[in-house]
Amino acid sequence: MSRLVIKFGGTSVGSADAITQAARIATDLHRAGHEVVVVTSAMSGVTDLLLSAAQAAAGAQLGRFLELATAIRTKHTDAIASLFTDDHERTSITSAIDQRLGDLQRLAEALAVLGEASPRAMDAIASLGERLSIHLLAGAIRAQGIGSAPVDAADIVRTDAEFQSAVPDADETRRLSQARVVPMLTAGTVPVITGFVGSTAAGVVTTLGRGGSDYSAAILGAALDADEVWIYTDVDGVLTADPRVVTDARTLEQVSYLEMSELAYFGAKVLHPKTTLPAIERGIPLRIKNTFNPGHPGTLVVATVEAPAGADQLQLRGVTSISRQSLVTIAGRGMLGVPGIAARAFGAVARTGTSVPMISQSSSEQSICFVVPESAEARVLDELRKGFEHELVRRDIERIFATPGVVVVTVVGAAILTTPGIAGRIFTAVGEGSINVLAIAMGSSECSISLVVDGAHAQDAVRRIHGLI
Ligand code: ADP
Ligand code: ASP
Ligand code: MG
Repeated sequence: MSRLVIKFGGTSVGSADAITQAARIATDLHRAGHEVVVVTSAMSGVTDLLLSAAQAAAGAQLGRFLELATAIRTKHTDAIASLFTDDHERTSITSAIDQRLGDLQRLAEALAVLGEASPRAMDAIASLGERLSIHLLAGAIRAQGIGSAPVDAADIVRTDAEFQSAVPDADETRRLSQARVVPMLTAGTVPVITGFVGSTAAGVVTTLGRGGSDYSAAILGAALDADEVWIYTDVDGVLTADPRVVTDARTLEQVSYLEMSELAYFGAKVLHPKTTLPAIERGIPLRIKNTFNPGHPGTLVVATVEAPAGADQLQLRGVTSISRQSLVTIAGRGMLGVPGIAARAFGAVARTGTSVPMISQSSSEQSICFVVPESAEARVLDELRKGFEHELVRRDIERIFATPGVVVVTVVGAAILTTPGIAGRIFTAVGEGSINVLAIAMGSSECSISLVVDGAHAQDAVRRIHGLI
């Protein structure tokens, strides 16, 4: 018997049929003798609806708010109507849903009075999606004859107060979650826990950031000493590329934690980039599986990947991209050899609260370039120009400028550093498409190479590189 934390994403609980399927997976594993802990996302689309509703409320657009709140309610009540025939279940789950929708209403009224939505208020509202879906999934598991109860992670996942990307406190989370969840497992009950959600020591609700339910699953897997954490989504595991871009992308049987971190960090939406952290710390294997094709083995993420039969397979694992980025360049002859320029540049960027996915410095051309999200470009340029006012006046720095509309394309594979000629093959593939590479960087973990290309050529670049994998 093993202890499994299984997480269902938004599509996996996006409709009554999907919820029934997710519940079947959980009950099958339970009946096979495993201790099953379920973590769930909100129903697909609900977090977006909630965030739009919060904005509408803060902007005093009452009509729009009501429209969104009704859409959220209908999505859940429709699912309840098809999931539950038992009157008692139907009434009690509907009343749990109504309580949460009452919270939404009250929070919205407060936002309307304030005229703005703080990150703290946004978290209180965004968290409601998961705090609704747990009731449906726990009910669906009970409907299949296994005891199950919803658990609000605000009671068991302790975080700091960094709203919208809260950082968990592993020790407190371990203490709280063991106290609450282990007795449930001992009693044969399947806990259904909200992903994405946590709370501060003072009990204020936080969220772990968009897509953070994967991270929740790994945090709880570590806290509860799970044998494995399984992430159920809507594709057959981690693929060699985003299947929406590359139609012949293939499932990877195994990837290392490091490769998975790089793939996720550089845009593979299939897993939240922080998910590997708790798993690495405790050496817990992660599996990515398809809710709608549960017989498929999916992808196993472990510390070291066994050598596959075809050795060439090891060289490159996957290609990813992050779009709507802007390439910022600081250029000038007077920068050559001057210490501290990079530190000041990134200090300025940090003051805008922007994270930088990629940096590239070229000493011969005396420039530093790095990528920021397009949405942060104006703020970053402004802060840099303020920070380097003197250097600009003295012409030590000649220009600080940005190229918007670029995409960071990243190739990942542990053998990148050790296999001669890989970079050459990548650049040849891209060059054959006459695609201009604006900047290059080797990942710090040394298992990735990133290229910045113009947005118009990004999909072509991804497909050409995928041809090498
Ligand atoms: P969930 O709601 O289950 O968390 P997400 O939508 O967050 O699911 O992530 C799954 C999606 O990630 C897939 O449907 C796929 O379109 C996308 N995706 C992007 N890159 C990859 C990749 N390399 N492998 C698998 N899926 C990917
Ligand atoms: N519901 C949250 C989101 O949409 C978290 C998640 O699904 O992982 O971002
Ligand atoms: Mg996701």
